[in-house]
Amino acid sequence: MKKSLLAVLLILVVVLFLVLVRTARHTPHQVASISRIEIALDEGLIATHLAEAVQIPTVSYGNPDQIEPEAFEEFIAWVATTYPEVSRSMTGTRHGGYTMLYRWAGQNEALAPILLTGHYDVVPVIPGTERLWNHPPFAGQIVDRVIWGRGALDDKSAVIAQLEAATGLLKAGYQPDRTVYFSFGHDEELGGFKGAASVAAYLRSEGVQLAWSLDEGSFLLDGMLPGVEPLLASINVAEKGSLSLEIVATSPGGHSSMPPRQTAVGHLAEAINKLDAHPIPGGLTGLSLEMFDVVSRHMPFGSRIFFANQWLFGDLVEDQLSATTFGNAMLRTTTAATMLSASIKVNVLPIEAIATVNFRLHPRDTVEGVVEFVKSIVENERIEVRQASSFSRPASNVSNSDSAGYKAIERAVREIYGEVIVAPGLMVAGSDSRHYGKVADNSFRFNPMIVGPDDLTGFHGTNEKISVHDLAEATRTYTQIIRHGTSDTSQ
Ligand SMILES: [Zn+2]
Repeated sequence: MKKSLLAVLLILVVVLFLVLVRTARHTPHQVASISRIEIALDEGLIATHLAEAVQIPTVSYGNPDQIEPEAFEEFIAWVATTYPEVSRSMTGTRHGGYTMLYRWAGQNEALAPILLTGHYDVVPVIPGTERLWNHPPFAGQIVDRVIWGRGALDDKSAVIAQLEAATGLLKAGYQPDRTVYFSFGHDEELGGFKGAASVAAYLRSEGVQLAWSLDEGSFLLDGMLPGVEPLLASINVAEKGSLSLEIVATSPGGHSSMPPRQTAVGHLAEAINKLDAHPIPGGLTGLSLEMFDVVSRHMPFGSRIFFANQWLFGDLVEDQLSATTFGNAMLRTTTAATMLSASIKVNVLPIEAIATVNFRLHPRDTVEGVVEFVKSIVENERIEVRQASSFSRPASNVSNSDSAGYKAIERAVREIYGEVIVAPGLMVAGSDSRHYGKVADNSFRFNPMIVGPDDLTGFHGTNEKISVHDLAEATRTYTQIIRHGTSDTSQ
């Protein structure tokens, strides 16, 4: 008795010891120190340029026929006059209507080109919400060193910062070894099917295979993860796919005064409940693991214990992460029932009840795999599963976070922002990279500007803004990204 108690105690002590040692060792990876770089800029002028860009209402409406060509033409003309060095020194072409592509020829033709891209179309302001804006959404006002308006973050700031960075380098006489393309999309908010898709097709027809591309994505996140002090530069190396399925319940129909025990709506409700109760299997593996491994090393001791000891707490960590919307989206293909339809009248039994369920595909899952899983959960003689529309896309490939492109971006970020956490991430929304990824060995999705919890409502919402300083820092970072990305040593 005593001996077995002692044995248990001994095991506990050993486990505790292991847990503590592993936690103590779960500290940030040593990165070679990189000196900060100072780049003198006219911050006020750059801010004025973004303010002017915001004033041109290049809105992408849900219905593409609503597009106002004059605004897009005006923006293109404005770029040409505002950035004469770019127009003079690079070859400009137009694609898919209003998407601008600039080619800055490198000195060494043998090197595969790179692409920097952003989009200048913006989502509409929801009618009736204009008065919720502290400053009108298309006035482009600069107040207390903050630029206000639709597109200030998503994504005119990236377009302007890239043009400013290129202009600065051109004025300084910089000559890239490697060719660099800049593409400024006009329909990203509608899927980029005209702009980015045409650019990708054009590059392919020219025989261009990019070493890597950099598009909008995550940001330098400030205070988004509890207990993590430094800025987190989350360079997205993949984006999730999307699949919509219709779950269809059928029943004979008839008058509602003589209903069966359960109508088609009841059967459908059961099916949706089953889907909610059975999330698509996921887990802390692959890219998700890589990301949380880097970030968790910066967490307080109490949280680090769990991430450092997944041999013991793996299930607990996954459960905790899955309980949050962000963590769940990182760990698995998500399930979201979004649309419902059934009978057309209160006293008519439905013949069909239909729920549309949107799945955002994790890189580990395929469209076919998810369809099979859903069928295995819900299908019976009353339920049918069918694809909602032809529009589905798998998740992107996962780009290499050990590649030269990733390293060039990482180095530039550290040179401008100093001590930050740089980690590969997964983009839950879509971007134009779904098109560019077809002509690039690696695709990265990252905007080198700081975003905090306050800024989140600005994306597609109200009071979108960026500070004059943040815009300038983004310009500096793009400057370094172009330098490191196009110099001959970057392979
Ligand atoms: Zn965007």
